[in-house]
Amino acid sequence: MNHAPQDGQPIPMLLWCPECGERHIDEGDYATKSHHTHACQHCGHVWRPAVVPTCGVQFLPGFKNAPAENES
Ligand SMILES: [Zn+2]
Ligand SMILES: [Zn+2]
Repeated sequence: MNHAPQDGQPIPMLLWCPECGERHIDEGDYATKSHHTHACQHCGHVWRPAVVPTCGVQFLPGFKNAPAENES
């Protein structure tokens, strides 16, 4: 098996609202629920970042301990 996600397994992504630029993080049910479109909690804009189900996360898996890049 390659790393293609199983059906219903959203791909973790770092998401920002294309409308207002606010960070979008899926929490609670949405963190595990597969969804194609994301609704900004800040301005209500709904967009679809990819053709596959995605999940807005704070950190990509495995990147939690990476040093911050381009902080400024
Ligand atoms: Zn979302
Ligand atoms: Zn927004």
